[in-house]
Amino acid sequence: MTPDILTVRHLIGRTDLMKIHIDEDKCVGGGQCVLAAPEVFDQRDDDGIVILLQDSPPSDLDAQVHEAALLCPALAIAVEG
Ligand code: SF4
Repeated sequence: MTPDILTVRHLIGRTDLMKIHIDEDKCVGGGQCVLAAPEVFDQRDDDGIVILLQDSPPSDLDAQVHEAALLCPALAIAVEG
């Protein structure tokens, strides 16, 4: 069984990790997320749909990830934490 993010945070002593979820079905491929947080988001070459490079990035990327979620016109990015 895969532990959930809260369990992982507890086990590694980190409570500052975020968890990102993307909904590829909602993505319209505009790329604002990539501009805001290129270490976390990329786009598929063929159709521009978002690719999540890391779903629990370090806390120093918090601001960029939250900006990406705010800028996403399709509301395809959800940030937990
Ligand atoms: S900003 Fe939203 S709609 Fe645009 S590529 Fe990223 S996830 Fe897709």
